[in-house]
Amino acid sequence: MKKFLAQEAVLQTENRPLKSQLYAHNFTSVSDPFCKCGLPQTPSHFILKCPLLVNERETLFAGLRTSDLHLLVQNLNTVDKIQFLLYGDEDLDNSLNEKLIELMSHFVKV
Ligand SMILES: [Zn+2]
Repeated sequence: MKKFLAQEAVLQTENRPLKSQLYAHNFTSVSDPFCKCGLPQTPSHFILKCPLLVNERETLFAGLRTSDLHLLVQNLNTVDKIQFLLYGDEDLDNSLNEKLIELMSHFVKV
């Protein structure tokens, strides 16, 4: 299950590549590392900070609250929070990891 979760999360993020990562690796299709809001488009910016995604982020965290997943996220530092949101946690039961994937899949399709 863990391997499946990780692969699915990677596919999701590959469907929505973050410009700063592509730019740093010299992808020619990316002319700059910036988000539409003008700030560098990093994972933490995209998932936690971009002002253009406030409503989508509220929907994401509302979904986390319905499964009490927000309790696991709220005290994590930014790096661990991104890791948890993208890849889940092998200590969670499968239904919670699946719920997390469902919520993040919806969010990254913004
Ligand atoms: Zn932005």
